[in-house]
Amino acid sequence: MTESERLPEGMTCRECGYCVGGLPMGRCPECGGDVGAREIALSERVRDVERAWPTVRTARFRLYAVVVPVYAVGAGVLGQHWGAMVAAFSMMSALVAGSWFVGWLATRSARPPQRTALFSIWVRCLPVLHGPWLVAPLCTAVALVAALVDRGADTGGVLLVSVSLIGLVLWVLGCLACPFVWADWWWGHTRPLDLRVRGLGGIALVAGMLALLGASILLGFGGGVMAAGGVASHLLE
Ligand SMILES: [Zn+2]
Repeated sequence: MTESERLPEGMTCRECGYCVGGLPMGRCPECGGDVGAREIALSERVRDVERAWPTVRTARFRLYAVVVPVYAVGAGVLGQHWGAMVAAFSMMSALVAGSWFVGWLATRSARPPQRTALFSIWVRCLPVLHGPWLVAPLCTAVALVAALVDRGADTGGVLLVSVSLIGLVLWVLGCLACPFVWADWWWGHTRPLDLRVRGLGGIALVAGMLALLGASILLGFGGGVMAAGGVASHLLE
């Protein structure tokens, strides 16, 4: 047997995690799964995703550690009440924490050597599911500009109302696109690596994704109404 027919040092079986480094290509002695040239290439690519996991985790932690408090303060200012800030902070925190938990739980049903990579891909995708409320500051900024123009021209809020309605239509279209964008991203990242969430985990993943998206839409709708209403009450009365 030549060296090229042996599995590279440090390689583990994709199915069971058994260390197959240095063994001949063919079948895993532990579980009987395939370990050949295809598995070597896939393992390398999965390992790259795993190596990127700490970076992904830190980037997402930083994103939400900034976004959640800043948005909560914005809600407090627009709602002119401490309660609005506390409520916004609690809802966003619960949604973000729930999103991590759902992904963690669903990826537990994958084979152990694939879990970290799958969870990493899930966490990277999260801003797509949170899009409906992450766009709140953009909506607020547009409403603010419209209200300022209204006040300058003394239109009685016609522009703010029109812009809010157009914004609402665009936002609804964006919300409808979210599950497709998410699915495209998820399959685009997991399929080439042959990563799979099986059985109940797969159902939990899809159900969790839809539930989180629903919660994001409710939160985003509430935030958008509050933003337009807050801007109107500050500038047009
Ligand atoms: Zn195995």
